[in-house]
Amino acid sequence: MDEVKLYINGEIRPSSTGEMVDSIDPSNGELVSKVHIPSTQDLEEAVQSAKTAFYSKEWRDMDQLKRSEILLKVSELIKERKRDFIAAEIKDSGSTFRKAAADIHNSASFFKIMSKVTAGFKFEEIDEKATRAGFSKNTRRFEPIGVCAQIIPWNLPLQMAAWKIGPILATGCTTVLKSAVETPMTAMMLAEVLIDAGVPKGVVNIVTGGAKEGAFLVNHKDISKVAFTGSTEIGREILKQAANEVKNATLELGGKSPNIILDDADLDIAVDAALYAFLYHSGQACTSGTRLLVQEGIYDEFMTKFKERIAQVPLGPTQEKTTGLGPVVSKKQFDNVMNYINKTKEEGAKLIYGGEQELENGLDKGFYIKPTAFEITPDNTIWHEEIFGPVVGITKFKTEDDAINMANNSIYGLAGAVWSKNEDRALKIAKEIEAGTVWINEYHLLNPGMPFGGYKQSGIGREMGEEGIKAYLEVKHLWESDCNTREGKMWLDAIF
Ligand code: NAD
Repeated sequence: MDEVKLYINGEIRPSSTGEMVDSIDPSNGELVSKVHIPSTQDLEEAVQSAKTAFYSKEWRDMDQLKRSEILLKVSELIKERKRDFIAAEIKDSGSTFRKAAADIHNSASFFKIMSKVTAGFKFEEIDEKATRAGFSKNTRRFEPIGVCAQIIPWNLPLQMAAWKIGPILATGCTTVLKSAVETPMTAMMLAEVLIDAGVPKGVVNIVTGGAKEGAFLVNHKDISKVAFTGSTEIGREILKQAANEVKNATLELGGKSPNIILDDADLDIAVDAALYAFLYHSGQACTSGTRLLVQEGIYDEFMTKFKERIAQVPLGPTQEKTTGLGPVVSKKQFDNVMNYINKTKEEGAKLIYGGEQELENGLDKGFYIKPTAFEITPDNTIWHEEIFGPVVGITKFKTEDDAINMANNSIYGLAGAVWSKNEDRALKIAKEIEAGTVWINEYHLLNPGMPFGGYKQSGIGREMGEEGIKAYLEVKHLWESDCNTREGKMWLDAIF
């Protein structure tokens, strides 16, 4: 039996009170690990250790090339231990083998790309346009914001931890990261990697817990920045709390992303991609393509192919390499998703496929839900509310303007996609979609060198890319006078 402990001040150790909760394998309901819950004293120690590390000479004065080396080492160590990471991610989060393998690979790649970005980032640069000989030399200098509280969800446990810790190491900030209590294993394994990669003690602290532990960190006076990934509902709360002390906040929140299939799309690819868009990790992806908008001229043909392919989706045990669709993360999430399915049925939407728990082939002990598709309109609840399960709503549209209006009819704006063989046509629509990432003839893929985040209520700020580094930096304008005579400084005459 594994125990998931706390990583505080460079040490992996138990909770001071010994309080623990069970973590369950979502594919069979079996106990996976005992998870240590930090006490208030543990959390306070974590914040103080991050604060001490932030002001330590070792971390403050570390050259960016050294930080870049550490990031690369982290990437290499994740790769070396990928089998252990994959095994843990599967049983802790209910990821399928294929999804877990992709997540571990992507996490290692993310650290590698952060290493490159860190080496090349201009932390200090004279602005030649602003600088005037005989008047001033003007320099832009980027400095780390300070001690951060970082809170992550349960859907992509290692990747979410990587996206948060990468910029900490890149910029010279320090952090207390709180993983989701449902999926704490791989974040704690990452702690072991950080120790072996030579990250100085206290720079990164990792704890788990729920709302209480998260709120403690967000509200702590020594925290300068809050970085949160999770639901829009909790994001709103966090923003209010951060406002009390005007803390810098980055929010990566929910989505209800439109996936638009135009009448000149390659239908075979578009159908498989539409299934991938809403079934990846059982729909528990913030970018999930959960509103599928199909143009009327191809609607019937698309639906015929769609029904054929959805029936072939391989639901199965998470460990099997052939499994394409696994369980949802917990009984709580299972109930949430089933409530949305039942509500949509009650609202009279036409059920195209699924709509129930999967009980066959020995899957009845896990939290499996059949891939589910409804025909919906904007009057349905699931048009507007994020489900975070394997459920899609399909709608027919006439014109491109209709597609744009429907796509933007949402409080969310995280992602979207357009499928067409005509690039100009697709681009025109993509530019009109109010979302932080819009794919053309693609779905879900992210590039760590490019920014990721949401418009509207899908969030504030960006992760990844240069924007993701700047999110952890304050910018200072250093003004050096190049005018050193009293006559030259005629602005002083305003007083004398
Ligand atoms: P959640 O909002 O319930 O919880 C997220 C995290 O916040 C957890 O660690 C939780 O313990 C913590 N938390 C809960 N209440 C808190 C409070 N009052 N104060 C501080 N912390 C608190 O989300 P979830 O159910 O874990 O994850 C699913 C959500 O995450 C979905 O809405 C999904 O779209 C979103 N998500 C967004 C992105 C993105 O990059 N935009 C990525 C992944 C997931």
